Amino acid sequence: MFRAAEVLEECRREGLRITAPRRAIFEALDGDASHPSAWEVLARVRRRHPRVSFTTVYTTLEMLARRGAIAKLAIDPERARFDANPVPHDHAVCERCGRIEDLPPRGGRPRGPRGFRVSRVHVEFHGLCRGCRG
Ligand SMILES: [Zn+2]
Ligand SMILES: [Zn+2]
Repeated sequence: MFRAAEVLEECRREGLRITAPRRAIFEALDGDASHPSAWEVLARVRRRHPRVSFTTVYTTLEMLARRGAIAKLAIDPERARFDANPVPHDHAVCERCGRIEDLPPRGGRPRGPRGFRVSRVHVEFHGLCRGCRG
């Protein structure tokens, strides 16, 4: 799970410049389970830093995803969603409200087609969440 303090420390050790908005982006993701889009992260950050641009948020999220500190998900056809838990896991996706929930890890080694070496498996369950099922 993404911990802002740890990743900030790593970036500092590597000599990366950590601006106040960047720090706020890190903090917006700390322990977050909501799989936000860049726009959602932007809204959180703008509460304290109203002048932060979408580009700053997006490039910071991309940088964190490249480092493996977060995961970029291609689940939502409308926009990229970011996962503060970079360890591969399955998801349940609500088709009405867009909510993405983490599912507990499946036990055992995944089996792929014959002769195919599997590196990872990602299962998406699509349907209606509790809230939308009514
Ligand atoms: Zn829903
Ligand atoms: Zn997730």
